[in-house]
Amino acid sequence: MSEEQNTAAAFDLVIRGQRVLTSAGIAPREVAVKDGRVVAMEPLGNGLVGAETIELADDETLIPGLVDTHVHINEPGRTDWEGFASATRAAAAGGVTTVIDMPLNSIPPTTNVENLALKRSVAENQAFVDVGFWGGAIPGNTGDLRPLHDAGVFGFKSFLLHSGVDEFPHLEAEELETDLAELRKFDSLMLVHAEDSHAIDRAPHAEGDIYAKFLASRPRGAENKAIAEVIERTRWTGARAHILHLSSSDALPMIASAKRDGVNLTVETCPHYLTLNAEEIPNGATAYKCCPPIREASNRELLWKGLEEGTIDCIVSDHSPSTLDLKDLENGDFAVAWGGVSSLQLGLSLIWTEARHRGIPLEKVVSWMSTRPAEIARVPNKGLIAVGYDADFSIFAADDAFVVDVKKLRHKNPITPYDGRALSGVVRKTYLRGQVADGTQPIGKLIRRGGI
Ligand SMILES: [Zn+2]
Repeated sequence: MSEEQNTAAAFDLVIRGQRVLTSAGIAPREVAVKDGRVVAMEPLGNGLVGAETIELADDETLIPGLVDTHVHINEPGRTDWEGFASATRAAAAGGVTTVIDMPLNSIPPTTNVENLALKRSVAENQAFVDVGFWGGAIPGNTGDLRPLHDAGVFGFKSFLLHSGVDEFPHLEAEELETDLAELRKFDSLMLVHAEDSHAIDRAPHAEGDIYAKFLASRPRGAENKAIAEVIERTRWTGARAHILHLSSSDALPMIASAKRDGVNLTVETCPHYLTLNAEEIPNGATAYKCCPPIREASNRELLWKGLEEGTIDCIVSDHSPSTLDLKDLENGDFAVAWGGVSSLQLGLSLIWTEARHRGIPLEKVVSWMSTRPAEIARVPNKGLIAVGYDADFSIFAADDAFVVDVKKLRHKNPITPYDGRALSGVVRKTYLRGQVADGTQPIGKLIRRGGI
């Protein structure tokens, strides 16, 4: 890219080049920004003039900023696991311009309006990209859901088994249905961690450093059973539900069937399920531990098929870090280690590396990682480069490559299963509302449902 300055300009910023990802595909365009929004898009050569003008290099594509709706920031309360500053800096470096924070692992969890206000006050002034919040649905807080919705959360997360932290208890299926019926009243979205508590209790226990034993302790059946439960309760209540981090490909046919029936269901999966496989996870490598677990290569292939067929709607990180201590690196015990993969900064390159091998175009990847998550969470004015939308972009060099060095990643604790991997696609620069988002200034805003 190259830059020029022009003070007598109609626009704050013009970015032009051969490859701009528009809603009609990649095309030669000039994109004009004023007051943080895209205000004009014209064919390349029309000569729009900005106070600043960026010319894309031949190997660069301008893409919409990614919208990562599944990030555990953990502040306050477990700020040594992750915090707003470190997480949003990692996001910006990876081309992610909007993150939606999960309601748990912070203390307090985001389960009432007071706790939301506390989280927002902590996040203020240390958001380097835009940050929104999910609320939490736990036993006994049905009365808090409407006030949280009115305060601007994008929807609610719940679990059907122990969440991993005691202050965020899980719902039984009956309680989930009660809360779905409640959310239906104001058309909010219920996100569900779908693994069945009873099925997990009866599975073999994870023990020691053998990955296969951990995998056996989180069987597909536990996911399948919980997803069936979510589908039927969603059908009965007419609510909107979203399956988090789908791992079991067995569930794809019933999801497809429910969607055909008109059940209001969306589904996400994550880079780790799409790029890693159980057969290649070294014993003791707890950086790979997450729940539901990374399964076999054959399962991964079916998840890609599910994406291409539209049964799976989107790809988000489920960035869920902890301290290195909690990863039990000395013993590598999968039963003891915290479950969560750190990948916030790497998602685009991970998925692009895999997608291009499969002949899947960049437009598709961006739709899964930006447009669809923005639509599902109903984040206003994000997820596309289009007139009226926020000027959130990244300049992406799709043919460039790099090797992941965990020490150079910007999230807080230097652990990731991708350390040492060679990846295609480099994010050269990120813009948030027309400003460079490079982690030097906290230019992010705290965003609310519907822009309220
Ligand atoms: Zn999560």
